[in-house]
Amino acid sequence: MKVKSADYVISAVGPEQWPTDGKSEIALSGRSNVGKSSLINHLLNRKNLARTSQKPGKTQKLNYFIINEAFYFVDVPGYGYAQVSQKERQAWGRMMEQYFSENEQLRVVVALVDFRHPPTKEDIQMVEFLKYHEIPIIIVATKCDKVPKTKRPRQVKLIKEKLGIAPTDPFVIYSTQEHIGKDALWSEIEKFI
Ligand code: GDP
Repeated sequence: MKVKSADYVISAVGPEQWPTDGKSEIALSGRSNVGKSSLINHLLNRKNLARTSQKPGKTQKLNYFIINEAFYFVDVPGYGYAQVSQKERQAWGRMMEQYFSENEQLRVVVALVDFRHPPTKEDIQMVEFLKYHEIPIIIVATKCDKVPKTKRPRQVKLIKEKLGIAPTDPFVIYSTQEHIGKDALWSEIEKFI
């Protein structure tokens, strides 16, 4: 994908702010600190378009970016941050439930997991949530530079098993630091635009 333009559009707090122009939405999810902002910036060749400056868990908003004036990236607030109150967790759950069940422009969710570790309980719940709503998923394992090459095939297998996804489901290992995975991820995303 040649990224000609990428611009921030809106931080949507509710459905009335979701775009209704018929353009595809590609959502990106993952636990806080998984490397989601770094990945969005890396995919879009930007330094600081997606930011982590907001306190984790406090950002109950869907951040929309428009790419090449043709489709959207939707940055979903990170989950799994320990300091978040029960109330905030529930608000997050309600917002995501509504987005996944009602948004008609959503085409696929890029679900990020940390390649170094087995998926967390919340990573597994996220995949179950998406399957329940019959939303296509692309799994991206971040920070793969931290895992030696010889150990990667085994780690891929383990993560797929724990997440309960088929061996043939789209799975991309990624490193923003070593520039691994960008073309592979774009080619998976392009199938949904
Ligand atoms: P977010 O909270 O999911 O948006 O995560 P960030 O993009 O802010 O990244 C969290 C931390 O992981 C930062 O310290 C990044 O520098 C680091 N990080 C992100 N991507 C990579 C990567 O590909 N490799 C390594 N080693 N670290 C990364």
